[in-house]
Amino acid sequence: MVFRRAGDDERAQLRDEDDDGLNIVSDDEDDEEANELFAAGQLCDVCQGEDGRVGLDPTCRGAYEDAGEPTLFGYNCLEQGLKSAYATLEGVAAVVEPFGEYTAHYYYRLDEMPAYQFVREDIEAISWLMLTIGDACARCGEQSHVAWLTPDFVDQLLPENRPVFRQLDGEIEHLCAACAATALAEAYRTLGLPMMTVELPRSAMGVLMPTGD
Ligand SMILES: [Zn+2]
Ligand SMILES: [Zn+2]
Repeated sequence: MVFRRAGDDERAQLRDEDDDGLNIVSDDEDDEEANELFAAGQLCDVCQGEDGRVGLDPTCRGAYEDAGEPTLFGYNCLEQGLKSAYATLEGVAAVVEPFGEYTAHYYYRLDEMPAYQFVREDIEAISWLMLTIGDACARCGEQSHVAWLTPDFVDQLLPENRPVFRQLDGEIEHLCAACAATALAEAYRTLGLPMMTVELPRSAMGVLMPTGD
């Protein structure tokens, strides 16, 4: 079965409800734009000298419009680009290490998780996990901002409306923003997918999850 966690329509709907209390369905043009943010064959935005492989959307599908321009990175420029982006990280987040063929790595804020078919049990487990972050980074000793979840901590089929997370009471590595950026760059490179669209944790608390269709 093809996995597809409910996408842009729900995000736009949440945003519109936030803005004015009305439930306005987004027009299709927005969705088209989101789908074509990064295209295979484009060059790295930083150096123009390598194939672009990982597109970073700091707006998180438009939810944070002032967060900066989407940027396409080749593997040579990826780690530095992610480090710069993660240097702005506020709050804490769980990051599920990307795996398999999922071409997107999207950020879901805790309060948005119900709209994306995460079950209550999962949301409670992630909420609890957030409270454990903030001690020393396991790799460098700086203050941690991220709980790093390897693929072992999820059902890799990423089911909707059923528990996805498992064993969150186990040993989980906490990372600072810079070490999380380095770990992600390594993970994205290792996957070697032709093109990935990735986001980064923004305000408050949430989870960065592999997804795709
Ligand atoms: Zn480059
Ligand atoms: Zn660190």
